[in-house]
Amino acid sequence: MTRRWSMSFKSCSAELDVLLRGFIVDLIIRRARLRHRENLVDVGVKSGRIITIAPSVAEKGAVEIDAGGNLVSPPFCDPHVHLDAVLSVGDPRYNQSGTLLEGIAIWSERKPTLTKELIRANALEAIKWEVAQGCLKIRTHADVFAPELIAVEALLELKGDLKDEVDIQVVAFPQDGIYAAPHGEKLMEEALRMGADVVGGIPHNELTREDGIRDLEYAFSLAEKYEKPIDVHCDETGDEQSRFIEVLAKLAIERGFEGRVAASHATAMHNYNNDYAFKLIGILQRAGIHVITNPFDNAVLQNRFDGYPRRRGHTRVDELLARGVNVAIGHDSIMDPWYPLGRGSMLQAANLLLHTAHMSGYAQISQLYDMITVNSARTLGVAGEYQIAEGNTADLIVVNASSEMEAIRLLPECLWVIRRGKVLATTSPARSRVELGDTAEDIDFKRGETQ
Ligand SMILES: [Zn+2]
Repeated sequence: MTRRWSMSFKSCSAELDVLLRGFIVDLIIRRARLRHRENLVDVGVKSGRIITIAPSVAEKGAVEIDAGGNLVSPPFCDPHVHLDAVLSVGDPRYNQSGTLLEGIAIWSERKPTLTKELIRANALEAIKWEVAQGCLKIRTHADVFAPELIAVEALLELKGDLKDEVDIQVVAFPQDGIYAAPHGEKLMEEALRMGADVVGGIPHNELTREDGIRDLEYAFSLAEKYEKPIDVHCDETGDEQSRFIEVLAKLAIERGFEGRVAASHATAMHNYNNDYAFKLIGILQRAGIHVITNPFDNAVLQNRFDGYPRRRGHTRVDELLARGVNVAIGHDSIMDPWYPLGRGSMLQAANLLLHTAHMSGYAQISQLYDMITVNSARTLGVAGEYQIAEGNTADLIVVNASSEMEAIRLLPECLWVIRRGKVLATTSPARSRVELGDTAEDIDFKRGETQ
């Protein structure tokens, strides 16, 4: 449940009082619990920047928020979503098999009926869902094979319209394969000319391994020409022979793209033999490859040919993290032909990954929170001013939980979502009242987990 925020604006006389004292703090968040910090602090914001973090700020803010000891963190990021396909589930038909291939077939059937207005409307609605739940940095793929590049055009327009509120990066994404479908190279380059921020690719979807390598080489040539980072759908299959990620890493090293290349999905890695996986992870670390895992889609789409036993479909999240590879979590689908559910909650994605990637160890909970915040910011290349620190941009969220563990367990509301010191979204906490025997009380499911 969301509502417009209005209750904490101070009266005009209070503002005048602050003015008369010669010092205005635009916003103060009081009793904030920051990550990796034991005691509560007040956070003062002026002109969109954090100007002070202290146990107690004496000045009054023109706007004051009481975080009440709840977790205040940098905003969530979604480094992998398809905003051109969101909220389209059932149009023109539902995915009956639940497979990736039927999802792609349905998307192909839908493309001729797409309009820019429809893409914009659905994407905007999904962005609102993500913003309401604390996500302010989004990387969306835009299928260049949508007719006449309307997906790219629609999402670039939205990016411009929302530039003061949400950071959006648009990836030129060749869903049908740069060489498996007509005019792939031409459409990719046109998307870059239009202003796409990132070069995509899909080597495992090309007809042959050789074409898959060409797909990657072309992505690098475009990235060099337009000076853009790269984010490739890479080895999104259960086929243990799909090894394009090694080519991606080699090209990153050879062409000096270390730290500017992301491999999305990389699910085949789940099924690689352990000797090969060990060697590969070393190469990924050396190449500075960011790996983006997508818990919702990967959980339901991968290893569909297994029968039983049924392997999990995720990349090797814990092994990658242990060897120093940056791993981030994407939402990927929100009610589309590939995944019919979802609500744009990065906390829910982290919660799912905890289960499917065996990441319930105490220290791993904190890693999961990193994967929807700081790891994603690094993947997006926006880590510079991302952390809550004096002098940085005041992009903050107040989560209705006392710790990362409690946040990932309860999937609570984002009470306040703040962008450059301005409140963008608020959500009222749910209230549960229980009457047992002679007592009636409100419960909030909180147990004060630490970390
Ligand atoms: Zn994707």
